[in-house]
Amino acid sequence: MKHGCTAVPGESVPVNPDDLRVVETVHGTWVYHLARGGAFRGLCGALVMNTAILLDGWGRSSGNTSLRERWCAECAKLGGIKTGLESRE
Ligand SMILES: [Zn+2]
Repeated sequence: MKHGCTAVPGESVPVNPDDLRVVETVHGTWVYHLARGGAFRGLCGALVMNTAILLDGWGRSSGNTSLRERWCAECAKLGGIKTGLESRE
């Protein structure tokens, strides 16, 4: 009976205050950070805004290589996210 509850871009979904989210710098430079709940600051303190990117997509390119996305190492560390870019177990 589950309907697909994937987040749709532009649709606001209730957030758990402890949930990590992938957010984007407000500077529009394709640098991504992590934030908890509805915070507008990343874990590293950067000002951020929402994205439609799922946590699962952290560290993965959208496929558009011209964007040169970057993923905040500080946020990854603070959020306990394994980027896969360093040591792979
Ligand atoms: Zn950050």
